[in-house]
Amino acid sequence: MPENAIPSPGPLGIYLHVPFCEAICNYCNFNRELFRDHLKRRYLAALAREIESAGHGGRADSVFFGGGTPSVLDPADVRTLIARCASSFALDPAAEITLEANPETASRPRLEGYRAAGVTRLSLGVQSFRDAELRRLGRVHTAARAIEAFEAARAAGFDDVSVDLMTWLPEQTPEDWGETLDVLLQLDPGHVSFYLLELYPNAPLREDMARGGWTQAPDDVAAEMYEAALDRLEAAGYRQYEISNAARPGRRCRHNLKYWSDGAWVGFGCGAHSTRDGRRWRNVSETVSYVERVAGGASPVAHERVLSTGERATDALFLGLRLTDGVDVAAVERRYGIRVWERWGGELARCVEAGLLDDDRECLRLTRKGRLLASEVMQVFV
Ligand code: SF4
Repeated sequence: MPENAIPSPGPLGIYLHVPFCEAICNYCNFNRELFRDHLKRRYLAALAREIESAGHGGRADSVFFGGGTPSVLDPADVRTLIARCASSFALDPAAEITLEANPETASRPRLEGYRAAGVTRLSLGVQSFRDAELRRLGRVHTAARAIEAFEAARAAGFDDVSVDLMTWLPEQTPEDWGETLDVLLQLDPGHVSFYLLELYPNAPLREDMARGGWTQAPDDVAAEMYEAALDRLEAAGYRQYEISNAARPGRRCRHNLKYWSDGAWVGFGCGAHSTRDGRRWRNVSETVSYVERVAGGASPVAHERVLSTGERATDALFLGLRLTDGVDVAAVERRYGIRVWERWGGELARCVEAGLLDDDRECLRLTRKGRLLASEVMQVFV
């Protein structure tokens, strides 16, 4: 721990990156590649070795298998990795252990295997319950397959299932989005993540759109679709707790909350990030480089730095604004020894006047309008 470091509060989250996918979607900007069995075996050995090298890594109460598509792993591999985490960290016996799964790989026996291996929570990458939209995104599953996977998850004993959806898709109308929401609410998962499609500069989807003559709805219609999701989820008893996440009571994602509430986490695998005790580091992104470094006994860390107290404070404020509960100003001030309103009062007051922030000096909280324009408010702390 660097000198003068303020210890991280609460138990750690452990993130394990699985970079393999069955097919590459045309909008995807994550760190992923096509599945290759021989590379998967070498990768898993490296991942286990990296976790082991963290030895006596402290208390942890969440594990998150993210990707890529972690459901390309066999249940036995998942069991081994969880066991490695439990031997290198003091892993809470009631830890939340999430695995991201894509419908095409989520068969009932495989899901039963994950449950038996200790996975407690499944996050299903559905994106849409309309086949035409899935095809435009280059997804390999159909809506029927996604519903089957959800039902298989329930039958396999997963009470805690999250569904990921995307809106503002090419050619999608508010009515189409309404159909996806109808199916979602019938399935009744405990947790829902919903994102607006972001087209990064060289996304192959841009070319597909040009070729197909597909367009995205105007910005104000995208905002309407986002609002419609919130209205329908809230009417059905969900509560939004973060800009892109809503849950039934007791179903918020413990792991992801660490990212937004000034928590600490350690990441393993290619491209994984970690933030702990005032340090931030990132592993090399490329899968083979990662495997070779770890197999050769070298560190996979590509970049590391010690954060200043000021950076830690602005991160806590910037990320905490994503939460609908907002940021407890006094807690940040105590932790980092800064005076939030003295330092940013002018800009924050302007956000209050514009109706983007609640008028509450003790808690910085975006209004519903503010959540749609969150980046404008967050600029205050950049
Ligand atoms: S399945 Fe997910 S990680 Fe894999 S290519 Fe598609 S969007 Fe990217």
